[in-house]
Amino acid sequence: MRKASGPVSAPFRSIPNREAEWTGRATRAEIDLGAFAGNVSVIRKELPAGTGLMAVVKANAYGHGAVEIARTAVESGAVGLGVATVGEGQALRLAGISAPILILGAVDPGEVMAALGHELALTIGTEELLEAVQSAVRTVVPVAPVPVHIKVDTGLRRYGALPDLACVLARRVDADPLLELDGLSTHFAVADTDDDEHGFTSQQRTALAQCLARLAEEGIRPRSWHQANSAAALRHLAEGSSFARVGLALYGASPSPKLPLPGGVRPVMTLRSRIARVFDLTPGDSVGYGRGYRCVAPERAALVPLGYADGYRRGLSDRGWMGIAGRKAPVIGRISMDQTVVRLPDGVTTTVGDEVVVMGGILGEAAPTVDEVAELCGTISYEIFTGIAARVPRHVLRFD
Ligand SMILES: *Cc1c(COP(=O)(O)O)cnc(C)c1O
Repeated sequence: MRKASGPVSAPFRSIPNREAEWTGRATRAEIDLGAFAGNVSVIRKELPAGTGLMAVVKANAYGHGAVEIARTAVESGAVGLGVATVGEGQALRLAGISAPILILGAVDPGEVMAALGHELALTIGTEELLEAVQSAVRTVVPVAPVPVHIKVDTGLRRYGALPDLACVLARRVDADPLLELDGLSTHFAVADTDDDEHGFTSQQRTALAQCLARLAEEGIRPRSWHQANSAAALRHLAEGSSFARVGLALYGASPSPKLPLPGGVRPVMTLRSRIARVFDLTPGDSVGYGRGYRCVAPERAALVPLGYADGYRRGLSDRGWMGIAGRKAPVIGRISMDQTVVRLPDGVTTTVGDEVVVMGGILGEAAPTVDEVAELCGTISYEIFTGIAARVPRHVLRFD
C-alpha cells in the first residue's frame, strides 16, 4: 500500500450556485407561502392540546426553499425547526432565523463545534457523539447549558441508542452541568402503513414510554419528548408528546394513500414551464433518444424545457403527463437531461411561450399532483420534492 502524502482531508471551498440565481428561466417552481402558512395552521389544529408543531425543513424544505419556508413556519406558530445537517441549520441561522433548531440525525464528531457555534441542538444516539459533545462544551464554556436530545432506537434500527444505552446517555447528560436534557425521542418504522393497535408502532411507543418512566423514577425528566412524523401525527399518535415533527404534510402531500390529509391542506409547490417549440409529427416519426416512441397518426407535439437534471425523472418517459390549456398532454418518448416532449391534445392550439403546469397546481388547473407523479415513476412524493434541482428557480409567492 502506498502511504498517503499530504493532508488527510484536502482543503475545500464552497462554490456559490450561480445557476440558481438567474430566475428568468421558463421552468420554475412556484412556492405559495400562503398555502404553506394555511397548512401549518390546519395541522396545528389537528394536534392534541399541549402538543406543538416542529416544522421539518430539511433538504431545502423538501425542495421548497428552506429560508422562506422556515420563516413562514415560525411566524405561523411552529415551536421549532428540524433539519438533517449542520449546514442546513447554519444556513437558517445566517439568514437571521433565531427559533430553536434541532438536527434530527447523526452528525460527524468533527461538526460538533460548528453546531454549538450556531446554537443548533444535537440529537445524540451514540456514546461517541455524546463524548464529542461533552469535550466540545468544555472548550467553549457556554453561558447556558447546551440543549441535547437523546434518540431512542425503538425498532427502526437506524439512528439512535437502544433503550438501555439511551437511558445511560440520558443520565450522563442529566449529570453534566454544561448540558441540558432537552428531549427524548424516537422515530416510527411503519406509522404510514400500520393500522393495527397491537402492531409495531404501539410496541415502539411503549418502548419510548418505558424509557421515560425509568428515567422519571430516578428523577430525570427531559424537557420534552417527541415521536410523531406526518403519518403518526395524522393518525393521532402525537398524544401526550411535547411536539410533532411534521414535514411532508406541511407541503401539502400525504405520507400514504391510506392517510388523507385534513381538509384545507393545499399543495405548496407548483412546477411550471413554458413551451419552447410546437411541431407536427407524421406517421413513422420517432421522438427522442432510442426512438422508442413511434408516431402512427399525424399529431402535434410541444417541447418543454425541463428534464431529469431538473428532477423531472426519466422514469416518467412515455408515462407522465402535464397540463396544457387545462388538458392532459402526455409525455412522448424519453425524457432527456434538459428537455421533454409532450403530445398536444386534439383541439388544443398553443404557441411558443404558453404555460405548462408540470406538477401540483391550484385546484382546477389540470396537472398531476406530486403523489401521482411519484406513483407514475414508482417512488414516493418525498423523493420527487427533494429531487427538484437547484437550477430550477423558486418563485416565492408572498402573502399579507
Ligand atoms: C424527516 C423526519 C421527520 C419528518 O417526516 P415527515 O414524514 O416528512 O413528516 C420527522 N422526524 C425525523 C427524525 C425525520 O428525519
